[in-house]
Amino acid sequence: MEHQLTIYNTLNRKKELFVPLHTPHVGMYVCGPTVYGDAHLGHARPAITFDLLFRYLTHLGYKVRYVRNITDVGHLEHDADEGEDKIGKKARLEELEPMEIVQFYLNRYHKAMEVLNVLPPSIEPHASGHIIEQIQLVKEILHNGYAYESEGSIYFDVAKYNKDHHYGKLSGRNLDDVLNTTRELDGQGEKRNPADFALWKKAQPEHIMRWPSPWSDGFPGWHCECTAMGKKYLGNHFDIHGGGMDLIFPHHECEIAQSVASQGDDMVHYWMHNNMITINGTKMGKSLGNFITLEEFIQGSHKLLSQAYSPMTIRFFILQAHYRSTVDFSNEALQASEKGLSRLMEAVNGLDKITPGTSSTVETKSLRTKCYEAMNDDLNSPIVIAHLFDGAKIINNIIAGNDTITLDDLNDLKETFHLFCFDILGLKRENSSDEKREIAFGKVVDMLLEQRLIAKANKDWSTSDKIRNELTNLGFEIKDTKEGSEWKLNK
Ligand code: ZN
Repeated sequence: MEHQLTIYNTLNRKKELFVPLHTPHVGMYVCGPTVYGDAHLGHARPAITFDLLFRYLTHLGYKVRYVRNITDVGHLEHDADEGEDKIGKKARLEELEPMEIVQFYLNRYHKAMEVLNVLPPSIEPHASGHIIEQIQLVKEILHNGYAYESEGSIYFDVAKYNKDHHYGKLSGRNLDDVLNTTRELDGQGEKRNPADFALWKKAQPEHIMRWPSPWSDGFPGWHCECTAMGKKYLGNHFDIHGGGMDLIFPHHECEIAQSVASQGDDMVHYWMHNNMITINGTKMGKSLGNFITLEEFIQGSHKLLSQAYSPMTIRFFILQAHYRSTVDFSNEALQASEKGLSRLMEAVNGLDKITPGTSSTVETKSLRTKCYEAMNDDLNSPIVIAHLFDGAKIINNIIAGNDTITLDDLNDLKETFHLFCFDILGLKRENSSDEKREIAFGKVVDMLLEQRLIAKANKDWSTSDKIRNELTNLGFEIKDTKEGSEWKLNK
């Protein structure tokens, strides 16, 4: 595993050479979705960012155990310690079991990830399936004196922890900042300090999701699940923990505190965070109500969209920005990505049309090195794409007859393109020109059948019979229905 992969570690605020704890194994944990609504563009970004990392680490030869959790309990409204459970609320409004909500949106999330060509993680644990592990974590923190019981709930004692350790080392916030920005909410009276966060919450009578514990019938605090499940599947120390930048505080800061308070040190070696997708400069998110779902992007069915965009256009759009930069949504930007992607795919397809010659007038070997260098530089996918566009120019020049290439160099170029476009960036061919042609021919048949209906309505039997007979002779099977007619081609 000779490589120089560097990744930006949020904890140390710098790029660091990636050295796994137990080569060739890599443990990677990424915060997954809270499944109470359809996935939107904001969900696609972490999924694609860490898919890129997963694919690249696997390509480098590592055996990666990639854990991406499903939050199905304990995530309260406004990411706070009070308010209704996001899934419980949806279940109440729709008169369904919470687990029906979870299953429904999880199935749809999986479908959305599949069309974006996001590989499934190795393990996808549910928070609700790990209540015992979370209770155990809370017991350990209590035992070490960093938590207290109040009215059947357990809170993390941030002030006490901060005396012995450093609360805020990931986010750079200090406790005074946190206290100044913490809003007073109902029930905060249970806490010794407004900065304290819930490890276990006693369920109110109307709360549907509840489990027995030594303290009360209730449910775990939102931050517990990732610490408990990370530990269970990746051990007390593992390599990478990822998620969106919006999770740095409070979620990941609290995870570090829970880990240090329970086992004495942080579990995670490299903390990685992708930046947000904004829409007109503001964050896109379910709770903000300004989001466009992935399905709406693919169907073009949202008032902000001037057209439909294919899943690979969305993937390419996201990869055209470095994962730590912001991306602002606009139709123009997506249309530019659509054009860029088709230019790249035409070049890939063009590789099969090239007849090799006896000599090369182009230099192709450095392309692969440059792409590796860009990937090793904290997964710089926009630079990889820029190099591939340079490669596309070379391909087009050869096809145009301006340059020549030997068989060896052609095979090398093919390998580089396949490796980076498909295996690492995770792009795939969609809507080949054959499919587009078939769709266009189908529309012509629809038009002919419309003419036949008009002829029938006019009692012009000879025209309607002629259309039917000629289509039948060509192998089409026509079936008349109440709405008009259906056809299929018997090949
Ligand atoms: Zn998490």
